[in-house]
Amino acid sequence: MGLTPMLQQYLDVKKSCKDCILFFRVGDFYEMFFDDAELASRELELVLTGKDCGLEKRAPMCGVPFHAANSYIGRLVGKGYKVAICEQLEDPDSAKGLVKRGIIKIITPGTYTDSSFLEENKNNYIMSIYIDNIKNSFSLCCSDISTGEFNCTDSILDLSIILDEIAKYSPTEILIQEHLDLNIYKAIKERFNVSFTKLEDHLFTDDACKNLEIQFKGFDHSNFNDILLKSCNGLLKYIKHTQKTSLSNINKLQYYTIVDYMTIDMSSRRNLELTETLRDKTKKDSFLWVLDKTSTAMGGRQLKKWIEQPLINEKSINNRLDAVEEIINNISYHEDLKEALKEIYDIERLTGKVSSKSVTAKELIWLKTSLEKVPCIKKILSNFKSNLLNNMYKNLDELKDIYELLDNSILDNPSISLKEGNLIKEGFNSKIDDLRKAKAHGKEWIANLESSEKNETGIKSLKISYNKVFGYYIEVTKSNLNLVPEGRYIRKQTLTNAERYITPELKDMEDKILGAEEKLINLEYDIFVNIRDTVEEQVGRMQETAKIISELDCLNSLAYVALENDYCKPKINNKCEIHIVDGRHPVVEKSLDTGTFVANDTNLNVDDDKLLLITGPNMAGKSTYMRQVALIVIMAQIGSFVPAKKANICICDKIFTRIGASDDLAAGKSTFMVEMWEVSNILKNATRRSLVLLDEVGRGTSTYDGLSIAWAIIEYICGSSNLGCKTLFATHYHELTKLEGIIDGVKNYSVSVKENGNDITFLRKIIRGGADQSYGIEVAKLAGLPYEVINRAKEILSNIENSNKDNINVKEITDCSIEESVYNEDFKVEEKKNTHEHEAENIHEKQVNFFDIQKDNLIEDILSIDILNMTPMEGFNKLYDIIKKTKEL
Ligand code: ATP
Repeated sequence: MGLTPMLQQYLDVKKSCKDCILFFRVGDFYEMFFDDAELASRELELVLTGKDCGLEKRAPMCGVPFHAANSYIGRLVGKGYKVAICEQLEDPDSAKGLVKRGIIKIITPGTYTDSSFLEENKNNYIMSIYIDNIKNSFSLCCSDISTGEFNCTDSILDLSIILDEIAKYSPTEILIQEHLDLNIYKAIKERFNVSFTKLEDHLFTDDACKNLEIQFKGFDHSNFNDILLKSCNGLLKYIKHTQKTSLSNINKLQYYTIVDYMTIDMSSRRNLELTETLRDKTKKDSFLWVLDKTSTAMGGRQLKKWIEQPLINEKSINNRLDAVEEIINNISYHEDLKEALKEIYDIERLTGKVSSKSVTAKELIWLKTSLEKVPCIKKILSNFKSNLLNNMYKNLDELKDIYELLDNSILDNPSISLKEGNLIKEGFNSKIDDLRKAKAHGKEWIANLESSEKNETGIKSLKISYNKVFGYYIEVTKSNLNLVPEGRYIRKQTLTNAERYITPELKDMEDKILGAEEKLINLEYDIFVNIRDTVEEQVGRMQETAKIISELDCLNSLAYVALENDYCKPKINNKCEIHIVDGRHPVVEKSLDTGTFVANDTNLNVDDDKLLLITGPNMAGKSTYMRQVALIVIMAQIGSFVPAKKANICICDKIFTRIGASDDLAAGKSTFMVEMWEVSNILKNATRRSLVLLDEVGRGTSTYDGLSIAWAIIEYICGSSNLGCKTLFATHYHELTKLEGIIDGVKNYSVSVKENGNDITFLRKIIRGGADQSYGIEVAKLAGLPYEVINRAKEILSNIENSNKDNINVKEITDCSIEESVYNEDFKVEEKKNTHEHEAENIHEKQVNFFDIQKDNLIEDILSIDILNMTPMEGFNKLYDIIKKTKEL
């Protein structure tokens, strides 16, 4: 007993796509068999059945209807699987024996182009990395096949550079060598949720120059080193292998060097929440969320790219700034641009669909509608004088020829399917018009026949109808059967209440009508394909227009945001100086009531103000301040106005941050280890032109170890190493404030607070000079630590402060707890009294104080009580708790 021919064919096809789930077309279904069936039934919750396959045991099988396949494919690809689509390559009705089948496309996370699954404001990147250990270098190539982007770069082999570039693109799939260094593989895998595809070495190497020359017109391999060629070749080959279609939108190989843009290391991108928040990884509340007021999907993607790679070229930055300024100064043009841009669809991705031949007639109408707006945009641009906008005006191709072709040819409301006709406008093609007339004439003939038959037979209810099985027929109800003319009607079908007949002349006309219809459908399809191919020839021009529109959209968005939020135009200097007057955090200020964010100045340079040592209580605003400086610098370098009264910003080559917990914890390292790894990376890679933010470095270990490390880092940055990067250093080691005046370039700053007995008010103002307290216990109280713990911590603190710090008498401190601690009513009453006094005093203070926050916490606590789901005892306990907390206020 052997396998049935179909299952044998299945296994033959499966051999060529072992790493994919094979969707095997059988009639109206895609079937999966064997292991694939078991996997897919689990992942997609499909019923697992079996099929007789010629072997003893039935083959496990499950399937999905072909018309609903996209959503199943989307789910599998979303989970990181690859899906190979195997189609019937010939008409099963006319095929002799087993229908020919073959794979027409492989869908993978990085090559997925279905617009219903892609996020419109986000690129879907696939990346290839090639590492040459002997030459100690690597190259990396990244493409979004839905837009045609294809970029590459190379560098010396350095894991942190590789990780930073991956973080910049966040690809969904990475192609790597089969024998990639395990440490590098692990390092990437631990940090990024990405699907890996291993390629055999020869797929990177074979025919690299030839392949690239064929794909990219005018490609000159002499400008590319061997390693670079390999990553590009590997990626191109993989895309071709999976898409199996023309890739005319991938026509420009863009090389960049890593230092062409500001380097923002992987953890800084996360810490600064540039494009997504740390907490829930969404765009909302991120930096991008504030800046993105773009009107088109292309603009949204472009702005994200601008944020991901700020410029370092002074002229390019100023060009963008001047353009934003000119739009702001001509607000009516800004409005006009916004209106026009709103009408524009995703030309970039529509162009991608044209080149992969998957575009529908409806999508060509979207393209036409978009192109209709381009002349209007060009007209608005003609009013601008600044370099960038003026160049956009000069270079914007209105694509009138494509617009006219589409406007003359495609119906405004065409069929969704290309195989149903109803695609082409009247007057575009005479043959189509003739066939349509023939079809219409036939229908008129039938209408006439119906009325003449009615007259001749006297059957008033006689009607001529059509169905797919019998074609045209004459229908007579049972009560009129006696009037049917004998010998002229041929009976075809009997129904309960009627008989259906045909006549030879009716069948003749039916052939003519149906013939015309079939011809029409085929002809309309052929003409559509012709139009699509003509449009495809202009893919490059459409991409240029799309690029200009997307950049214009970004500038218009930046202008809007600047106006809305009262930003100022920064001056750009090349003197390694940062001067910000009344700077604000662009995101935090959005979360507060208007006008309540406290603005702060910043002065940094590479001489006297190299390292600002920022001390101050917990919760005072140190991290916010440091982040705000970094974000203002990034904003300036992407060409945006900045949240400040005045700003003079030097171009920074790199921004590093060491703030907060890191995602690397998941990678199995301790908090302190990760912190040290990051600091080491910063000290190795920062330059005089870099901006570095260090938040509480050293806190992850014992006090004295931490203090020593922090101290040594400050010395390293400002002293002998001559590193000299501009640094903001927040710390709770108040001992470090003594370094001002001893180490050149260190300046003390603190975030001011107002003390009122046991309560403090945050003023959020950065002032010169160091702070001497952290108020950590008060903040712990806010966080809801049990009252006993807070009280006891205060006692211990006061005992430690009064004792010899180098020789703390643990016994003495412990003993005092037995007599005095546990529950200190006096202290509580005192605190309560004081706090209430201060409440009265500070009633008009705008700043937040501990009392307000505690009160808010209490209210929140009460509001969250779900009384209906509590037992009486639980209710009583809750009430007791609330009374206790209220007394503590
Ligand atoms: P810790 O030392 O505990 O890490 P921190 O000093 O770094 O605290 P932040 O996290 O920067 O404090 O700020 C705490 C909160 O204070 C922020 O979430 C923000 O809501 C508010 N805040 C910070 N800066 C300002 C400001 N300049 N104006 C108004 N509110 C601010």
